[in-house]
Amino acid sequence: MSDAISLPPTVPPHGTGPAPLIDPFQRAISYLRISVTDRCDLRCAYCMSETMQFLPKRDLLSLEELDRLCGVFIARGVRKLRITGGEPLVRRDIMHLFRRLSRHLDSGALKELTLTTNGTQLARFAPELASLGVKRINVSLDTLDAAKFKDITRRGDLPVVLGGIEAARAAGMQVKINAVALRDVNGDEIPDMIAWAHGLGMDMTLIEVMPLGEIEADRTDQFLPLSVVRQRLESRYTLTNLPDRTGGPARYVRVEETGGRLGFITPLTHNFCESCNRVRLTCTGQLYLCLGQEDSADLRAVLRATGDDAVLARAVEEAISRKPKGHDFVIARQRPAAVPRHMSVTGG
Ligand code: SAM
Ligand code: SF4
Repeated sequence: MSDAISLPPTVPPHGTGPAPLIDPFQRAISYLRISVTDRCDLRCAYCMSETMQFLPKRDLLSLEELDRLCGVFIARGVRKLRITGGEPLVRRDIMHLFRRLSRHLDSGALKELTLTTNGTQLARFAPELASLGVKRINVSLDTLDAAKFKDITRRGDLPVVLGGIEAARAAGMQVKINAVALRDVNGDEIPDMIAWAHGLGMDMTLIEVMPLGEIEADRTDQFLPLSVVRQRLESRYTLTNLPDRTGGPARYVRVEETGGRLGFITPLTHNFCESCNRVRLTCTGQLYLCLGQEDSADLRAVLRATGDDAVLARAVEEAISRKPKGHDFVIARQRPAAVPRHMSVTGG
């Protein structure tokens, strides 16, 4: 499969196109997260199994197809794209997709093009990403201890990731650190990680483990409720609630001692669905309407059956008309996982 890009037209700026995508609960869908690959150069224990079976490459949308589909979403009012995975920066020629998508930033149709990455390839790509208009990125990092990092990721090299973060900052991008809170693994380290991130002017967000995909470990052993983390943090820091909302599951506080912002993503202990503004596209072109639900739409079939973007737009509208009100995650001891898809398939 060639990842070479041929050029569909850009979309008209906001205000001149058709009506935005509104779901049955009157939520405007303005945010699309796109998993461009299910592959990764790491194997984080909470995310993947040691022996992941990856998809055959022919099943993936080509970069050209991804670009076309993004254009359709943007024409229907999507204002923010997040490229994720798997590890998005290990997909071959991924910068071609960023180069193509950046034209929507230039035209004003897109407000934000961003990325979630494990940081291993950032030293290589940060300057070009910044030059294409990627202003803010999320880097996932669960520990600052090199041995623990190798353990959690089953193979990662911490200095490489720290170098990537430095490269991104040097290129002028704002970096946010995402850390999954893992019981008996990094709980004790979180206060120091906050001091480190905030000391470098980076926001930090803590994430609860979600029951996505079968892995070797029992998730109840990994699960560390953020309510507990917050309580512990309050013995060292003064946390002031902030009104900031992103339409997502994060709640924010200001850490008064550092002056930095800290987010809590608690999908299991909090309900955040009422303000949900997002949908997720997998690397095979399945559109998932909710991270925690199985209902999806096969946009690859439509993409490959027609060159007519109006037909594709109708398939997108039909899917959005099925967006559920919310999810019902439960972390329970019984198998199988609450949602059989790994996060690396749906895109974190
Ligand atoms: N590889 C990139 C990375 O690690 O940032 C992007 C994809 S990764 C699936 C996106 C985010 O999902 C990461 O922050 C990761 O820690 C998080 N994640 C993966 N599996 C998870 C799970 N079961 N529960 C909670 N977060 C998870
Ligand atoms: Fe890879 Fe990201 Fe999953 Fe870790 S969390 S295995 S870096 S996709």
